[in-house]
Amino acid sequence: MGEAGGKVYLIGAGPGDPGLFTLKGKRCLEEADVVVYDYLANPRLLRYAKPDAEVIYVGKQAGKHTLRQEEIGHLLVARARQGKVVARLKGGDPFIFGRGGEEAEELAAAHIPFEVVPGVTAAVAAPAYAGIPLTHRDFTSTVAFVTGHEDPTKDETSIAWDKIATGIGTLVFFMGVGQLAEIAGRLVQHGRSPATPAAVVRWGTRAEQEVVTGTLADLPEKCRGMKPPALIVVGEVVALREKLRWFEALPLAGKRVLITRAREQASGFAQVLEAAGAEVVEFPTITFAPPESWAPLDAAIGRLREYQWVILTSANGVRFFWERLQAAGRDARDLAGITVCAIGPATAAALQSRGVRADIVPAEFKAEALVEAIDAGTGAERLRGARMLLARAAEAREVIPEELARRGARVDVVPAYRTIKSASDTEGLRTMLREGQIHAVTFTSSSTVKHFLDLVGDEAEALLTGAVVASIGPITAETAARHGIVSHIVPENYTIPALAEAIVKHFRAAHG
Ligand code: SAH
Repeated sequence: MGEAGGKVYLIGAGPGDPGLFTLKGKRCLEEADVVVYDYLANPRLLRYAKPDAEVIYVGKQAGKHTLRQEEIGHLLVARARQGKVVARLKGGDPFIFGRGGEEAEELAAAHIPFEVVPGVTAAVAAPAYAGIPLTHRDFTSTVAFVTGHEDPTKDETSIAWDKIATGIGTLVFFMGVGQLAEIAGRLVQHGRSPATPAAVVRWGTRAEQEVVTGTLADLPEKCRGMKPPALIVVGEVVALREKLRWFEALPLAGKRVLITRAREQASGFAQVLEAAGAEVVEFPTITFAPPESWAPLDAAIGRLREYQWVILTSANGVRFFWERLQAAGRDARDLAGITVCAIGPATAAALQSRGVRADIVPAEFKAEALVEAIDAGTGAERLRGARMLLARAAEAREVIPEELARRGARVDVVPAYRTIKSASDTEGLRTMLREGQIHAVTFTSSSTVKHFLDLVGDEAEALLTGAVVASIGPITAETAARHGIVSHIVPENYTIPALAEAIVKHFRAAHG
């Protein structure tokens, strides 16, 4: 019997698109002390694991075995016996050609409690993303999942080729690209028409998704040299792709976009890009930390009623300001009568969600524009002698305080947070960049540029040559340019939605 608490979740990671991971899988992953994952499980899901979880890669690629199957079983049993909660993350569904059955048997034999969390199998998802419904009233009412791993020319095959060739409408073969000619040959030999539509879907649901269609007669030739992972779909339903292909039609389909902003800021940006069909890779270069000392901000909050103005220059500034406001036993009412300025719509939204409508939001979202908006809204006259509180990042530019001071305002600049370098998987990113797997890199502030360069190191400039660089605004683009990085995309508005839109436009134009 395992020690109290030890158990194993056999979790289906889905086919690749992280959006196809289940809510239950996510919950189990969040709970796990140990995560054991495969080649086909998207590593992006690991972000749901606890920061201190032990993460073990047991990936198998054809020919390259990291751990043998029985060693994986032993590993799961051993960790569970230590009282650990183990998440065993497998590509697609764990019980569909994933050897999840064998792993469950081992756990059962060792009396380790386990649960199975089904996943979206590639057999369903890859055809769906290719625009191929596996069943359709007009074409077929049966579908079978078949392993293509067996050598079809072997005499002792366990697949009843004579029966499936004509007895089943839609056939989906796993692990079969290397044997495509033999599989097609067997089906034809047993009576399936050589004119039957067939498709190969490689890396379904991922940015690399590749679909080749043809017939049993000509598909093997068309797919010569194609590498796994790929599925073979055979049946009349394949013809529907002509009408139903949808994934490739998305403007960012096939594009992998790097997000360098802090993890807690990334999700909104990621959602817009994913909605346009992109695959997002998060590489947080920065993270937010409290300032060296809260004393200056706390003191400023203590004398809040002395200020006529409060200026906030980021949603983070709002978040940290609010934390301290509340820590002091105060709330939004303490801002009554104070003119509140936000540098842009995201900052204004952060204020709004806390019950405060910003009085001034400049049309252009940078320091200079904020100063101009303040001028326009008040007349420089009213600034003379005005007391202003500027709560912001410890390392921000001096434009706002200098310009306001020039107009006679008395500005207290207090640090509300610090932007610091984030620990990220730089080796993994360097590999992806080198292999051309990243199509666009996004910078959403000067600090993302600086910390990106710091993390990626000397080769950064060379590694970026194959990717499109998108910077949120001229200041960020300037910082990049100073380091030899050309920004191909700079939106007119310096906002995240505008940046996402500009990326879509860029690739749409490139498509022609
Ligand atoms: N349990 C997995 C299958 C594991 S067997 C599932 O339910 O999807 C591995 C095989 O699955 C690969 O050789 C390939 O045939 C198929 N496969 C897995 N992910 C795939 C993907 N994203 N696109 C196409 N085929 C995939």
